[in-house]
Amino acid sequence: MITTTNPATGETIAEYEELDQAAIDRKLSRADGAYRDWRTSPIARRSDVLAKMGDLYDSRKDELARLAVTEMGKPIAQARAEVEKCARLLHHFAEAGPAMLEPETWQLSDGGRAEGRWLPQGPVLAVMPWNFPYWQVIRFLAPTILAGNVGLLKHASIVQGVASKLEELALEAGAPEGVFQNLAISSDPVADIIADDRVIAATLTGSEGAGSAVAEQAGKNIKKVVLELGGSDPFVVMPSADLDRAVEDAVDARIQNNGQSCICGKRTIVHADIYDDFSERFIAALKDIEPGDPMSEDTRLGPLSSEGQRDTVLDQVAKAQEEGATLLFGGKKIDRPGAWMSAGLLTDVEIGSETGTDEIFGPVGQLYRADDVDHAIRIANAIPYGLGSAAWTNDADERERFANEIEAGMTTFNAVNGSKIEAPFGGIKRSGHGRELSRYGLHEFMNLKTIVYP
Ligand code: NDP
Repeated sequence: MITTTNPATGETIAEYEELDQAAIDRKLSRADGAYRDWRTSPIARRSDVLAKMGDLYDSRKDELARLAVTEMGKPIAQARAEVEKCARLLHHFAEAGPAMLEPETWQLSDGGRAEGRWLPQGPVLAVMPWNFPYWQVIRFLAPTILAGNVGLLKHASIVQGVASKLEELALEAGAPEGVFQNLAISSDPVADIIADDRVIAATLTGSEGAGSAVAEQAGKNIKKVVLELGGSDPFVVMPSADLDRAVEDAVDARIQNNGQSCICGKRTIVHADIYDDFSERFIAALKDIEPGDPMSEDTRLGPLSSEGQRDTVLDQVAKAQEEGATLLFGGKKIDRPGAWMSAGLLTDVEIGSETGTDEIFGPVGQLYRADDVDHAIRIANAIPYGLGSAAWTNDADERERFANEIEAGMTTFNAVNGSKIEAPFGGIKRSGHGRELSRYGLHEFMNLKTIVYP
């Protein structure tokens, strides 16, 4: 059985029976069969399913948001925003996606012509995390369905209610049986599913450990893999920034999704000229954040997704102090049932230490002082990850430096970094490889077939 628990109360919500080998096999055969028909279905039919899914996410956003809050504890307003973003993405691919599949042609020097045609390839396995339980899946599923591929989902164990809701909504929107199936499984059978000939590729969002296990198995079986792993994103503030807004966003970045977002600013790096002013306001604002009921509209910080996740963050805070970092405030367990802890802030973190290089997936920030732009870039890059980044500056030269020199898949200026439905998304270094969203994401699991007309 897979058990889901409400992290705000510690109470069990539901139990889901795990699929056995025979049931997994039936689902893989159904995916394979569904793909044979879906790949040749008119593109307008596939767009239509996406548009209907988008309508359903819009019209049922309250119910969907509440389910996510119950299973993983994010504040309700953020859960609703996540569902709305899914609806926008579904409509975006329904409308703009077909043009991204148009063939390309080349005139050949021998007088002939070649055409590059985007063709689907089969069932794709998605291994997904709990932190944005709808968005991470829809980000994979919308392009997969449009491409004419079909999707199989192994969702995080703690969000099995969301996982089955995702399948239910695809069916309700008219996706034929087998075009998208949820597999209620632990991570144990994942390796065999990747090895199965009926599955053509895998995509994973989650930790480095899970990513490396999935990539290893995909590599052994010569299958493509897209990985969106962790990050410890820099949030750089330079003297030309609007400090009021920068402080507000630095706090939002660190506590958004209860501190469990892969691409939010986790290391706040501030230029020496404004360090004292910024840090005084940043500390006051972050200290002010009171954890509260995630179902309440005003709550900005709820519980962590599970007691295990909370304990991991507490261990990281203890390790940071052992390494000589200063815990300015917070970062403590709150003694009540559920996965509660207070927001906290670390300074004096040594560059290259475990704390300085690890992802802290919870509401505990790190504050650094940078002497100049070179130093800020050096601190920003002193991690094994390269997912997102944010830089606050109104200086054109500094913007160019950050745009070109921060080692990350994304840099956002003067705002909290976040994925955009129209633009590519993904990381470099140990944050993974491949892209999601845009035509680059749509094409990841397609066959760019070259057809030559002599
Ligand atoms: P995991 O990476 O363990 O979980 C993500 C998904 O991978 C889940 O569906 C999980 O299944 C599955 N999984 C785990 N191990 C394997 C494996 N060996 N083979 C195949 N699938 C696997 O994340 P956690 O929930 O354990 O969080 C741990 C850390 O990961 C966090 O502290 C954070 O640093 C990072 N993380 C990053 C995310 C991101 O968005 N980049 C999202 C979530 C976590 P199951 O739930 O059944 O274990």
